[in-house]
Amino acid sequence: MPDNKTLENELRPRFELREVGIVKSVREFIVMATGMPSCVNGQFVEFNSGVLGMVMGFKEDDVQVLVLGSQTSIHVGDEVYNKGQMAVIPVGEAFLGRMVNAMAEPMDGMGDIEPDGSLPLFCDAPGVMDRVPVDQTLETGTKILDAVIPIAKGQRQLLIGDRITGKTSVALDCILNQTGRNVVCVYCCIGKTYSNLLKVINLLKERDAFSYTVIVSGIASVPVGEQFIAPYTACAIGEYFMQRGRDVFVVFDDLTKHSWVYRQISLLLERAPGREAYPGDIFYIHSQLVERAGYMKPELGGGSMTFFPIVEILQGDVTGYISTNLISMTDGQIYFNTSLFNKGVRPPIDFGLSVSRIGNKAQWPIMKELSSKLRLEYLQYQELVQMTQLRAAGLSKEAESKLKRGAAMTELFVQGKNRPVVMEELVVHLYVLSRGILDELSLEELKKFKRSFFEYYKNMYPEILLKMREVRKMTQEIKESINTALKKYFAIE
Ligand code: ATP
Ligand code: MG
Repeated sequence: MPDNKTLENELRPRFELREVGIVKSVREFIVMATGMPSCVNGQFVEFNSGVLGMVMGFKEDDVQVLVLGSQTSIHVGDEVYNKGQMAVIPVGEAFLGRMVNAMAEPMDGMGDIEPDGSLPLFCDAPGVMDRVPVDQTLETGTKILDAVIPIAKGQRQLLIGDRITGKTSVALDCILNQTGRNVVCVYCCIGKTYSNLLKVINLLKERDAFSYTVIVSGIASVPVGEQFIAPYTACAIGEYFMQRGRDVFVVFDDLTKHSWVYRQISLLLERAPGREAYPGDIFYIHSQLVERAGYMKPELGGGSMTFFPIVEILQGDVTGYISTNLISMTDGQIYFNTSLFNKGVRPPIDFGLSVSRIGNKAQWPIMKELSSKLRLEYLQYQELVQMTQLRAAGLSKEAESKLKRGAAMTELFVQGKNRPVVMEELVVHLYVLSRGILDELSLEELKKFKRSFFEYYKNMYPEILLKMREVRKMTQEIKESINTALKKYFAIE
């Protein structure tokens, strides 16, 4: 039996204030509606079939609504309700380990998600005074990145490259590498196929990385409106954790598809097309998103949000409209080179064109010390290789040693996919490289060294490794321990 109070509550008439408009026309996923004079941009409206829409603009007295769902149930003359509510999505702790759509509704058949609150889809990025300079490294597990192109927590780093060059793999390695590091990961899929997404999910599940990850699906088969808002949803879900002082890592895979979607929407909204037929505000659309990354000051929880937006280019051309926009609004880019990929270099990251503008401020001092000359050495090595292709005989001793060092370095950085490498291992390997010991090894020996030396060292000096993570500086003790381990290792061999 319900008690008196609940009965009274149930019987009391409920009032809901809403403005009712009428659908005037339906053109693909854009609906024109009249009779909602108090609508504002970015607001959610609801059609009488239950489908949601988002206000995208106005034309004289009409409201342009982007349908977030299937438009087949919407007809001319239908009612559309404005509840005066800005676009918000539910957020909360329970989203971890779940897959959601762009409205943050569960898509994995694992039941409802209990939210802890809601956050706006579109909001202002935190101001300068709310942030502090970056000082923590995000360990990506990709050797080239951790050594030469370090990423800081709170950084926005663009992954740019042709089709099928291993962009997604590097981003996923970074998610895999966060196991046990208390970082919340969000993977946002935009305009990709379902099979692409399924591969990602299976990998994360297999490697126990799903429990700290949220997947936001805006795959190619969902309505265009959902694909458009998916990255903002991912961002809002991440913001919930950031506001509670957690570190968050978000991958947008990929923003090229997102721009295509926005171009489609804009053309239907009859906005003037600009360069490459993209609308003029595409820069704003993306900068509004990437600006939301950052490292918050301790009074605001001290959380951080790191972004890896991915952008696909055509035939290595970085000068396209979308890619140059994104390069200019991020803190650096990782360039995936197709010719390196074709030569079998994995991951095919180009040292020359990749930069991280702020990451080295947060890099471990020990790593900074070991990697400071690597970029230059590598670039000189590549030049030498090209020269020796023309004239192989009569090389100076110095050139020969540079060639050997470069070859050893290239091999050291080769890394299979889904095999993130811990920072300590990289430090030990780079120290051995700097001592010139790897220069004399054959390729087979070098491969064996890469596979087995760190395990060997770890068993000998587990406590030094713990100290290395704590202090993060090069000490005499570390040097001596590696040297002793090297002597013993090669004596066994
Ligand atoms: P797309 O343009 O389809 O999104 P992508 O640039 O994201 O592609 P991936 O899907 O990550 O690239 O990888 C492309 C292919 O390269 C895959 O078949 C993957 O197995 C292979 N690959 C990527 N990285 C490595 C690696 N480090 N070692 C070996 N193979 C790799
Ligand atoms: Mg990919």
